[in-house]
Formats: sequence, C-alpha cells, structure tokens
Amino acid sequence: MNLCIHLSIVSLLLAFYTSCSITSNITEVNQNRTPSFTSIPQLDFILEENYLIVYTLQRGSADGKNFSTALDFQNYAWALNKAKYREQKKYDNSELDNLHTKKFRDNFDTYFEELKNSIQYKKLYKETVEYKNDCAKEWNKNLNKSFELMKKITKLHFQFPKSVKIYITHPAVSNGSALDRKNFKIAWGDWGHFPNYSTVYLWHEILHSFMDIDDVSHAVIQMATDNELRARLNNTTFPPFVGHESLKPLMDKIYSKWKTYLNSEMNLIDFAKTINDSL
Ligand SMILES: [Zn+2]
Repeated sequence: MNLCIHLSIVSLLLAFYTSCSITSNITEVNQNRTPSFTSIPQLDFILEENYLIVYTLQRGSADGKNFSTALDFQNYAWALNKAKYREQKKYDNSELDNLHTKKFRDNFDTYFEELKNSIQYKKLYKETVEYKNDCAKEWNKNLNKSFELMKKITKLHFQFPKSVKIYITHPAVSNGSALDRKNFKIAWGDWGHFPNYSTVYLWHEILHSFMDIDDVSHAVIQMATDNELRARLNNTTFPPFVGHESLKPLMDKIYSKWKTYLNSEMNLIDFAKTINDSL
C-alpha cells in the first residue's frame, strides 16, 4: 500500500512494489471529466494531527532517517493504553472524515490529548512540520518546470480545483496515496530515494485524479511520472523502471510504444485506452 525506505537499488525497486495506493472508493471520475483548460495546481500542505497519529500507529513500522521518532511514539502509545491502541486500528485512516466524527472523538479525544502532550509526539510533530515545509519548498521550486514537463508528457489540459490538499505524515512512516481522487486529496510522507522525489510522486498521485484506476492506467502513470518526469527533472535515463514491481511486465509492454506516444498528438488518457485495447 505504501512506499518503503530502502537504500539499495534492488530494495528500492522492491520498495515500489508496495508503492502508492488508491484508497478512494470513488469511481467513474473520468467518465465525465474531459480535461480542459490549464490551471497550475495549487498545493496546500496540511498537517492534520488526528490523521498523523492514526496513520503512524496503524502502520506500526518505520525506517529511514529519524525512524526511531516514529517507533518511540508507537511504543509510547501502546504502553499508554493498549485497548485504545487496538481500537483505533479499526478506523479506515484513508477516510479522513472517520477521524472527526462524534463517535471517534468521544472514543479517542482523551487518549489523543494524552498522546499529544508526550515528548514522543512533540518530536514526531516537529519533524513532520519540518518535512512538510521541505516538501512545500521542493514542490514550489520545481513547480513551473515540472508543470511544463507534465503538460508535454501527458498532453492533458489540466483542470484543478482551487486547492489540491496534501496531508503530510512523518516521512519515516511511508505514505503515498490518492485518498480522494475526485476532490484531489492526497496523503504523502516518505524520505526521498532520488532527487526531486516528492515532486515526482506528488505528480504521480495527482495523475490518479485524471486517470482510471485499472492496472494499465497505473502503469501508464508510472511511466509518465516515476520514469519520464524523474528522468527529465534529474537528467537521467530509464529503463530500468521505477515503479510497482507487479506492474513491471505491463511497463515493459508500454515502453515499446512510449517513445512513439511522446511524439504523437495523443494524450495520456487515450494512450492508456489504446494500450488497454491492445491487450
Ligand atoms: Zn499510484
């Protein structure tokens, strides 16, 4: 479901096996959305504390830089109240509204307040704020260039809502998910495995809002962002591919047509359709 931290190339590829997930229950996003008229995406980087807490506790693992911050918090929360720790796991953290219902608040406000007062949480929060600021800085530094590249790569005339909401979690607890494709809500948090990592993967998650949710569309998104955008931003080449291991066979098939696609008038959505039709 999510990105994992690994340091070697081999483990990096494995890491993407469990890369970003589509957790939205929204369907038919694209049926009625004809991409129209460009507007540059405005990202709001948000640190929502209930989501940070639940996501960190539900993942129950951490790695990479500052991993002990997340583990210490998980251990503290477990020791503080095992019953509540177990109970919060029942809530689907991809549905942010679940974390603000009266039932949830009645159940967890006291527990969460105790957690928030701990030194373990304060450290987690502080590092997440710093990471959030770093993400925003990287995104904004790259925005004009990455937007131009994405228009060239996808040939889509993007239409965005006023705000694309990015819910940030601690980067040692890997996260990368299109939470709500229709409303452009994205969850993100991971240490980078290559330069401009957040830029590449935020575009990946954004593209999920424009594409269908089948494997071909996902493989095409990976070709466009994990690979083509990454290569152009970082002045490097591919293959080998970056992306979910399970989608690599599809990416092999797509790659044979990818160069032709790039030089054509076809946009990314239609390209995915032609690949689907050819299988
Ligand atoms: Zn994805």
